[in-house]
Amino acid sequence: MYDLLIKNARLVTADEVIAAAVAVKDGKVAAVLAGETPVPARQVLDLTGKYLLPGVIDCHVHFNEPGYTWREEFAQGSRAAAAGGVTTVIDMPMQNRPPVIDREVFARKAELLQGKSAIDYGFWGALIKTNLDKLSGLQEAGTLAFKCFMCNPGQDYTALDIAEIEQVLVTLREFDGLAGFHCEDYAMIERLQTASLATGKTGRRDYLAARPVEAELKAVNDIIALLDKTEGRAHICHVSHPAVAEAIRQAKVKGLDITAETCVHYLLFTGEDLVNEGPRFKCSPPLRTAADRKKLWDYVLDGTLDCICSDHSPCAPEEKAEASETGTFGAWGGISGVQTSLQAFWDLAITQKGADPSLVARVMSINPAAIFGLDGVKGTVMPGRDADFTVIDPQKNWEITADELLYKHKFSAFTGLSGTGAPVMTIVRGQVVMEDGRLRDGCTGQLVRRCREE
Ligand SMILES: [Zn+2]
Repeated sequence: MYDLLIKNARLVTADEVIAAAVAVKDGKVAAVLAGETPVPARQVLDLTGKYLLPGVIDCHVHFNEPGYTWREEFAQGSRAAAAGGVTTVIDMPMQNRPPVIDREVFARKAELLQGKSAIDYGFWGALIKTNLDKLSGLQEAGTLAFKCFMCNPGQDYTALDIAEIEQVLVTLREFDGLAGFHCEDYAMIERLQTASLATGKTGRRDYLAARPVEAELKAVNDIIALLDKTEGRAHICHVSHPAVAEAIRQAKVKGLDITAETCVHYLLFTGEDLVNEGPRFKCSPPLRTAADRKKLWDYVLDGTLDCICSDHSPCAPEEKAEASETGTFGAWGGISGVQTSLQAFWDLAITQKGADPSLVARVMSINPAAIFGLDGVKGTVMPGRDADFTVIDPQKNWEITADELLYKHKFSAFTGLSGTGAPVMTIVRGQVVMEDGRLRDGCTGQLVRRCREE
């Protein structure tokens, strides 16, 4: 007797959609059955007309706990993620107090969050000037990747210089660790920003001008040169511009060990949204032009951009306001998107552009699982893997309103968007955590650790 039988599903795999039933036992996929096969199960879900995807993994979120819970608590962020069809998030190490700099901090964060998450979660570890000798310990503790800045993110998190990054790439290679980079060149941005503020240019267009694509491209090219030199491995976070994606494509052609992500907001919005609507649309790297946004899509389709994530980065309303002296520069640079990224991407990719649903499975589940070392347990619907599923109703019409956001602070660049096709059920290890927008009580999410099979 199975625990759960999901029947009449359009199962989305890496390269096709097949008619299938999926049987679940003890939180794991027990069998994938072609067509309709009557098997005994305690619970049966009929998904006629709906797509069954491997559970969506959002590989880049900021859930702010411990330390910055006035922005959002882990419980709130994870419930919003569950409502948006996400079954696993990978949480960033900054906007944590302290940042996740060593195995002891990792263990404390893991203990603190026990029983607080609606869905499964993994941790990024810190990669800053003061923890370079702690990385292997963090990896052993279960860190999925290490986040490195090439421009100063502020707070108590430091950027590395090129010499340090070279050393780190060599060190990480020894234990197959993965570094993820926020690519914006620190010197260039610092110079532009200082000059802009010194001359009283603090507006929205001034902010965009002070974070040009040249800064992002220089940083990415620096990483690519180091990969060539060290034979190391790197993941490029939140690629915002097609010129950056093209550099990554060429590095892949050359055989370098590089992967990349973009965020749904770079595919949906432009710098003009920041100019017209204000800091709700402020992020870094910043939103680019309409032509850039259009061209970035090519690199989603050709596989250069392996993952699509939200870079969910909430803040309090007062932090998001333009500051009296520094204007747009002083407003928080982050967009809350973990709840709405999947539906917005589905509408854009599948409903509007007619892409195959397998694209969503690849960039939002299969590839993140593989890159972040979870492919032994998640990312694919096959016997033995966790029974994590995202169910999509391709006919469901939606409009995003502030009311329905489960965030602590109910504002987002995504409010006002409408579209067709949305998650209607989220299943984590066989447990339904969201159905038709309603969340089930209970926080059954578990910490996932790196489990790459050698
Ligand atoms: Zn981020």
